[in-house]
Amino acid sequence: MAFFEMAKTAIRTVVSRPATLMYPARPGKKTGLSRGHVVIDPSRCISCGMCMKKCPSEAICVEKDERIWRIDRLRCVVCNSCIEVCPVKCLRMDLQYSPALLSHSGLETFLITYVKPERPKKSETGENADA
Ligand code: SF4
Ligand code: SF4
Repeated sequence: MAFFEMAKTAIRTVVSRPATLMYPARPGKKTGLSRGHVVIDPSRCISCGMCMKKCPSEAICVEKDERIWRIDRLRCVVCNSCIEVCPVKCLRMDLQYSPALLSHSGLETFLITYVKPERPKKSETGENADA
């Protein structure tokens, strides 16, 4: 009995289309829930370190004094937590997967270029001098 079940499955598999896609000739479908890899806009990052604290796999390192934001792509489990917690929304999920790594290190380093805007100076009367 089991033999006939197995034979039926084998014949069905031979005549049916492959369940897998012929990637990269046919790219996979992406939906709103698809996740690729984390992308940062270093010009908006305020070095608060929230993403580093929230990351469950310790993939992110923020060095505030050196103005460095670093991610280890080999540690990232694409959970989206860093993106949800970032107060200035400078992280986003790109739908493309990371390109194949050329070394054993998955480290990517970015120089934070955010410049804090200066506060308007106050006059002696307490009002804004620029106003
Ligand atoms: S997506 Fe998740 S695992 Fe990847 S860097 Fe962000 S918090 Fe860490
Ligand atoms: S990426 Fe966002 S959460 Fe992470 S240090 Fe920069 S501002 Fe803070």
